[in-house]
Amino acid sequence: MTTAYVYDPRYLDHASLTGEHPERPMRLLAINDVLAQHGLLDRMLAVPAQDVTDNDLLRVHLRSYVNRLQQISATGGALLDPDTYVARGSYEVARLAAGGCVAAVDAVLDGVVDNGFALIRPPGHHAFSDRGEGFCLFNNVAIAARHAQAQGLDKVAIVDFDVHHGNGTQAIFYYDPSVLYISTHQWPLYPGTGHWRETGASEGRGCTVNITLPPGAGDLSFALAWEYVIGPALTRFGPDLLLISAGFDAHWRDPLAMLQVSVPGYAQLMRNLVQFAQGYCQGRIVTFLEGGYDLDALAYGSLAVARVLLGDTTLTDPLGLSTWPEEDASSMLQGIAKLHGL
Ligand SMILES: [Zn+2]
Repeated sequence: MTTAYVYDPRYLDHASLTGEHPERPMRLLAINDVLAQHGLLDRMLAVPAQDVTDNDLLRVHLRSYVNRLQQISATGGALLDPDTYVARGSYEVARLAAGGCVAAVDAVLDGVVDNGFALIRPPGHHAFSDRGEGFCLFNNVAIAARHAQAQGLDKVAIVDFDVHHGNGTQAIFYYDPSVLYISTHQWPLYPGTGHWRETGASEGRGCTVNITLPPGAGDLSFALAWEYVIGPALTRFGPDLLLISAGFDAHWRDPLAMLQVSVPGYAQLMRNLVQFAQGYCQGRIVTFLEGGYDLDALAYGSLAVARVLLGDTTLTDPLGLSTWPEEDASSMLQGIAKLHGL
């Protein structure tokens, strides 16, 4: 398979003034280093990042929020909330991240490559149409989904395996039957939304699927989540394009959460997603970086995802598995499947 990747050194320019924030430039450098060491960058097509167009941006975000962010960034920066920094120049970087995601989608829709991986920051899934939060400024995956629809695609599915619930993505599509949003996340955890009973509203009812996992859940839970919920929900929905919000903070080493997924667990979920895309949406799958705050887990998780996108069967995992027994989430997962009629 052929895979596009998007990366731009300007993505490193978004940095907190204290330098101590977990969402830091080193995250992308760590991924880039490991991908280069293993020869993956040479095997993927580099697609240049680009400034997102206002058309693409304003399908998701309010002009008033875009203007506010621009002003904060231009005047030296500020905190949007205690966790979410905007530094001087962050506005331009966030635009370049969203535009990079659009470029990756275009490369796939134009048939230049089979699939894509957007290695971008700041991440996006906590960004709402009218505000950023949770380290996120613009909602990259939502902008990419709306862009794909503007190119004529009917239905888009988003699978978000970041350990946190993508509250911004859910809110943007909550009433929309044309976008299926599926999230696996630790429960309870920031941001506190994403209860399994939140399933969409109005015409979008049933098109939000929240898969809550207890602290201690790991690879088996990811596998069962696929078998009971994610796979059947995707099959029933029948998307024209599959987008992935890929966070690596469900890894057992991550400092911000308590799931116990390993690199092989991510690889298996990714294989399922790629296989689904091949069977149901002409192989069209684009992956976007979200969170992940242990640099090794982030880098080797990303390496595994890149390899699966390329069709490799090899796996490099110097980190190994968690030594704690896995929490059993099977009855919870069966309940979620039943709620959704799967
Ligand atoms: Zn996260």
